[in-house]
Parts: sequence; C-alpha cells; structure tokens
Amino acid sequence: MKRRGQAAETVMRTVQQHSAGHLADVDMARLREIASDFCRVKNSVYDRYGGIRSIGKLDPGYAVLQEMTASGLRERWGIPSVYFQLAILEALSDLRGYWNRIRGHVRESTFRREGFTEADRHYLNFLLRVDLLFIELLTGEPADLRESYRLQQQELAAPVNRKSLENWLRRQVRKQCRRLHADQADTFAVDSRGYRYLDGAIEFASKEKRKRIRVPLTDTNVYDRQLRVRLHPEDNTLTILVPVKVRQHVHADWKRTVGLAIGLHVMITTHEGHVYGAEIDRYQGEYAAWLREANRIYAKNRVDNPGRKKYRAKKHRFEEALHSYINRELNRLLAEEKPAKICLPKLQGMKPESKSREKNWGVSVWQRGYLMERLLQKCREQSVEATLVPGRAIGMTCSRCGQPGERKDGVFTCTSCGLTLPERQNAAKNAYQRGDGQSDTSEAEETRQNHGSEQATSSG
Ligand SMILES: [Zn+2]
Repeated sequence: MKRRGQAAETVMRTVQQHSAGHLADVDMARLREIASDFCRVKNSVYDRYGGIRSIGKLDPGYAVLQEMTASGLRERWGIPSVYFQLAILEALSDLRGYWNRIRGHVRESTFRREGFTEADRHYLNFLLRVDLLFIELLTGEPADLRESYRLQQQELAAPVNRKSLENWLRRQVRKQCRRLHADQADTFAVDSRGYRYLDGAIEFASKEKRKRIRVPLTDTNVYDRQLRVRLHPEDNTLTILVPVKVRQHVHADWKRTVGLAIGLHVMITTHEGHVYGAEIDRYQGEYAAWLREANRIYAKNRVDNPGRKKYRAKKHRFEEALHSYINRELNRLLAEEKPAKICLPKLQGMKPESKSREKNWGVSVWQRGYLMERLLQKCREQSVEATLVPGRAIGMTCSRCGQPGERKDGVFTCTSCGLTLPERQNAAKNAYQRGDGQSDTSEAEETRQNHGSEQATSSG
C-alpha cells in the first residue's frame, strides 16, 4: 500500500458490463452449458487433486494442467480449450486457498490447545510454515528440502516428542478436510482466446465450432483480459466482471486514525461513537424473513416444483439492495471520517467453506464477509491504510484500563475503573489502541486473497 507523499499507485478493482435487453432462450441455454461444463471441470479437478496426496502438485500446477489435458476429458465433453484451461487454473487456486485455510485453522488450534510447551508450538508452527515440510508430513514422501531447513527442523525437534506432535498435526489436518465441490453453475471465466468485442456486443466461443454466442452490451467498452461472466437465467441477462487497474485517490487532508467495530445490528461504530449502517438490521431482517418463507413454500411443493426463476430473481434483488446499502454507507464512512488509517479487528469464526449462505440465519453472517471485502477494497482505492488487529476479547476489555468488564443491553461497564460506554464504541476504541503505531497491511492482503475466485463480485 502506498505511503503518503509518493505518487499515486494503481489498485485493482472490478467493473461491470451488462447485457442489453434479454437474450434469446437458445443463447442463454448455450451459455449455461458453458457454465455447467466449467463447473464440471472444476469438480473434476477437486475430485482428482483435492486429496492430501496431491497437495504437492498444486503449486504451480503445471503437472495437473498436463494430466488433465492428457486425460481426454476435454474432447469427450466437447469443451473449448479456453474454458477447460481456465476452469483447471481456477480449481487449482481454490485448492491452494483451501489448504491455506486449513493450515490457518490448525495453527490457531496449536495456540488454543493446553498442555503444549513453547517448544511444541515452535516445532508445529515450523511444520505449518514451511510448504515442503507440510507436504512431506501429509504425503509421507520425502521432500527435497534445503539443508539449512533440515538442520533447523532437527534443532526444533530435539526438545519435543516429535512423533506424537506430527501425529497430532496430521489428525488436525484430517479433521478439517472437506470435499470441495462447485455447485454454482451459472458462472465461468474466459480470456481473450474465447471472446471478441464487435459492434457494441461481445461474442463468446461456444461448443459448436465457429458458432459464437453474440451478446449485445449496454456500453461500448472493450477489454483484453480475463473476464468473469455471470449468467442470470431468471431474466436472460448476464453481467461481465472485469478486473481493471485504477489510480489510487490520494487525499492529502485525510490524516486521522479511526478505530472501527463491525457488528451484526449496526454495521460500523467508530471509536468516537459515530455509527454507519444503522439500518442494516432492517435490510437483513426483511431478506431473512422472505428467505425463510420462500424456503418453507419450496419445501412443501418440492414434488411439483414450479421452477425457481421468480425466487432467484427476487433473491437477486434483495442482495443487490443490501449490497448497495452497504456500499453507500462505506462511502459515507470514508467521506465523513477522512481517515489516513483505519484499525479494525480481524473477522473471527468465518469458515469460507461453510454453506451458511444457503441458510436463513446465515444472511447476516456472510454479509460480514462482503462488508469486509468492500471496506478493504475502498481503502485501497482511497489509499487508506487498513490494519487488522487481533480480535481476542476486544468487546469485553475496558478500553481505558484494560481490565475485563461487563456487557449488558449494548452497554459496556468496567468494574475496575467505572468506565461506561456503548459496547461497540468500547470495542472500536480497543481496535484503535491495538492498531495505533502498528503498520500491517499484509493481513488485509491475506484476507482479500483468501476470499477466492467466487468473491469477484463488486459494485459501487
Ligand atoms: Zn476500566
């Protein structure tokens, strides 16, 4: 991230292109076929290379690309090579993210677990940190490791019960293992080998040779990079997501550090008690109530399922409304607070692989991920430094004296020094203090990358 006073740098952001009018049913059907092939290829990579034994093959992944190409799947399924390859690359990157998350979870449990000595933790974290050692541990195949690492490993292993620690680690990893599966079939990636812009339209390569699928667009912008296409079969439209470089805005008069607390009922509270997104609860509540009702009706009529077109269209509208509200409030936050730096706690308890999206109670939970993503993106664009601070007990600790206090009806009361503050503001003050003087954007970067390919969505 850029430092003040230097020339503005560029950051990536996602812009959208939209189809004009409604596509013919036959064209939408052909596009959906591409999307479902794309998903099929990804699942095939997950199935073949998602296991522990393949972990060494994922980075950089040439072997996988070669093996998949040689497998004859592409020819059998009749998939244009551009989609086939991009699906493989995407699945590989998902798998890498998946293993990184598992490593992160296991690292956390080494800290949580009582009975470990410092030496135990050191050794475990060394195994988790060094890619080749981690792979060796899981696959049992000796890694081609540099001598210095081997020596360091022996040194760290000397004071511990090596075997039992390594077994513990393997068990922890196995406990976290899930099967990755892509079931959202209405999206695919394509690069310039598979599309061209022509006369206000984009044309996609299709499964039939030399028969492109023509989609008129609402703008005449032309791009040359990898695009993500999202289909909306409910109304025969599509959205194209384009990653573009934009110049960072530099605000010379933004000088403050602002501590933030992110909440479920109020989006954001600052350390000074300013509130943004106070209406989020209403938006989420309406959405969740509708989802609950819609799913109840759906469960009842499952036998003669009338088609979920209307359902999906409405769900889409709810999400759009929610997201545009979130973006509006984030813009207002930056414009009014004028921060040079924000400090906020890391998100905790977010399991990206969980299916909470589908569940009613999950509405508010997964919106937090979206909120975080957008906040960090906007910070990058406005050259605001974002520091993620440790979130441990951040709401229960007194921001004046550091002692534990009590929370009741949204108010924090310190039993030691008598401080009384709105609970969220106390948490935001703690974030402010934990982040002050700290300069660490790498965590923010990590969070962004861990969101993976499916989080490319963006607006406002
Ligand atoms: Zn206190």
